[in-house]
Amino acid sequence: RRALGSLGKSRAKFISAEETTGVTFNDFAGQEYIKRELQEIVRILKNEEEFQDKGIYCPKGVLLHGPPGTGKTLLAKAIAGEAGLPFFAANGTDFVEMFVGVAASRVKDLFASARSFAPSIIFIDEIDAIGSKRGGPDIGGGGAEREQGLLQILTEMDGFKVSTSQVLVIGATNRLDILDPALLRKGRFDKIIRVGLPSKDGRLAILKVHARNKFFRSEEEKETLLQEIAEHAEDFTGAELQNILNEAGILTARKDLDYIGREELLEALKRQKGTFETGQEDSTEIPEELKLRLAYREAAVAVLACYFPDPYRPFTETDINSIRSQPNMRYVETSGRVFKRKADYVNSVVCACAPRVIEEEMFGVDNLCWISAKATLEASRLAEILILQTGMTAFGKAYYRNMNDLVPNLAAKLEALRNEYMRFAVEKCSSVLREYHSAVETITDILLEKGEIRADEIWDIYTRAPRISQPAVSPVDEYGALMYAGRWGIHGISLPG
Ligand code: ADP
Repeated sequence: RRALGSLGKSRAKFISAEETTGVTFNDFAGQEYIKRELQEIVRILKNEEEFQDKGIYCPKGVLLHGPPGTGKTLLAKAIAGEAGLPFFAANGTDFVEMFVGVAASRVKDLFASARSFAPSIIFIDEIDAIGSKRGGPDIGGGGAEREQGLLQILTEMDGFKVSTSQVLVIGATNRLDILDPALLRKGRFDKIIRVGLPSKDGRLAILKVHARNKFFRSEEEKETLLQEIAEHAEDFTGAELQNILNEAGILTARKDLDYIGREELLEALKRQKGTFETGQEDSTEIPEELKLRLAYREAAVAVLACYFPDPYRPFTETDINSIRSQPNMRYVETSGRVFKRKADYVNSVVCACAPRVIEEEMFGVDNLCWISAKATLEASRLAEILILQTGMTAFGKAYYRNMNDLVPNLAAKLEALRNEYMRFAVEKCSSVLREYHSAVETITDILLEKGEIRADEIWDIYTRAPRISQPAVSPVDEYGALMYAGRWGIHGISLPG
């Protein structure tokens, strides 16, 4: 094999080149279907000629999209490792410089390097930095420069002859929605794979991968402990799960112990949760006022979860031990088929408003703080999905991927209807919270006292609480009236507990 070592040095600094990555699909856990899809590609890469005889070609580009830390880079490296091909990596943000012409020439460099070692793999992380929609708002400047870079990528990808040996281009992004559609056209990134957050089983599998080189008292204990962590690490990415095990390892060494135990793992989990978004390490002391706000937020979310129970995703518990911009309430993982009616979509918008509505109600509109800021965003996002993607509203039956697909007068119509839904959701949410004000207060008190509360206790308080009746809230569109005709009655949802 040609020496890549010298290439790494002689070529521009922004490319990192590896002869082979040594990473395999065994290093990636959870989301097995992703591996199956990619294994197919590896098989074609390895036996290109044989497949070409049958008229099967490898895709030119694979786009991996999903939140940071979910293993996109890892997957790209695993493709290279499994196929035994050299790996050329660059980051989209490195292409965009202040100097004109740099972006295009860096793209050229990258493709030229990879071609001289073909068959090979190119990986472009954060491809949105260079491949965002042309003609859109020019955030941060450098629009023309970026456009040149994007055009160069398109030219390079179109330039490959399918019959000669391949360079497979893998892109990664967490902003699929802002990518230029030209990139997603046939013959460019024609395989798009979503890499999402792992499920509970996925989390366990990922923990097992990263526990391989760690010491536990016994296999059985390891299994039980990892199960427990997986259960309590909802919404964690692979990178965060890996962090928990590393942190637990460090704590174990600090205490001079031979094996990782339950205490270290739980401590590491707690730290990972605490540093989730605040970035403050060792912040066990939460200021009193923030605690009070967190308690109200969680209590409001809990009451709404009782008012609109989701039969497919019951909640389990909540606490005020970690400060995140999203509620701490935890749910049972969704499984099997979910039957979602229009009312369920609307209810989820109403529920999403709870953190904001309660904070405004209790602390006043001029005294809001960041722990409820994401709620408004989340509620309007959910309303937008309902309007654009389900065809269940007065907006009409067409499907739109997002707001950017809309012509101006449709955008105005969306805006108006979304405002209507938001008005309804906020009013409905306040009305529920007023009706169950006493339950909100009781749950808040328990949270302040004990730090956490379980679903059965919440249900108990909710069902027994005295209620203050509220005037009806007028529904949104022509279906609205039907929607609330029978909250439990016609749909036959039975109340747990
Ligand atoms: P991304 O490129 O999506 O931001 P990375 O691939 O950089 O994420 O992930 C960072 C690290 O987290 C990986 O190197 C790996 O150790 C760990 N990791 C993430 N997802 C997984 C997974 N599904 N299985 C095993 N490890 C994972």
